[in-house]
Amino acid sequence: MSLNLNDVTLTYPDGDQRLVALDRVTLDVPAGKVTAVVGPSGSGKSSLLAVAATLITPDSGTVTIAGTSTAGLSRGALADLRRKKIGIVFQQPNLLPSLTAVEQLQVTAAIDGRSTSDARSRALELLDAVGLADHSDRRPHQLSGGQRQRVNIARALMNDPSVLLVDEPTSALDHERGADIVDLITGLTHRQGTATVLVTHDRAHLVAVDDVIPVIDGRIAAEHA
Ligand code: ADP
Ligand code: MG
Repeated sequence: MSLNLNDVTLTYPDGDQRLVALDRVTLDVPAGKVTAVVGPSGSGKSSLLAVAATLITPDSGTVTIAGTSTAGLSRGALADLRRKKIGIVFQQPNLLPSLTAVEQLQVTAAIDGRSTSDARSRALELLDAVGLADHSDRRPHQLSGGQRQRVNIARALMNDPSVLLVDEPTSALDHERGADIVDLITGLTHRQGTATVLVTHDRAHLVAVDDVIPVIDGRIAAEHA
């Protein structure tokens, strides 16, 4: 199931004017593929992810998540859609300092009301998939930056999302570890069939992704639009 943004415009208040963060953006992300969105700082990448995540409602245009249009949905219905269909990986892992890796994942499932034993086996399976099978009982301070980011990615997959949205996952990592994280996201996307958007300002890691879309000043370059 795919992700589609159609003719999305988003503005923010800017003094007595409006700042155009996204300017008529249309984007189709097929299931099982990674679409990288690349652009300089301030070009609108995080805004695009926030709209795709249904965290911000655009001024105009539509967002369709796995066949469900978000137009006119209540806040509660949007929260439900996010919980069931969307995995979000923010720039900073935001792990809870007192919880082990496996517990970080189980918290998400507890919020969804899943049984503890189901959640634990799913969590261990995902930690294995991100290469952390031997680290499931470690707390964040016992993990490297790259390992914390892997926990963050595994956590986003707990609800088996249709859509995976990833914001600059390599910004705090060195080059080699950054490339590993992009490879991991690509491998997981192909295996789990998520429609994945990977936002980055750094083109260096993008050899393995399925599509690269440049964004400048809130606009997708003409040849990709
Ligand atoms: P990127 O992620 O590519 O760095 P952003 O989407 O964060 O870009 O920002 C795009 C533009 O929108 C920038 O000019 C930024 O300053 C502005 N912007 C982002 N968030 C807000 C906000 N909450 N309020 C006002 N302006 C914002
Ligand atoms: Mg950003």
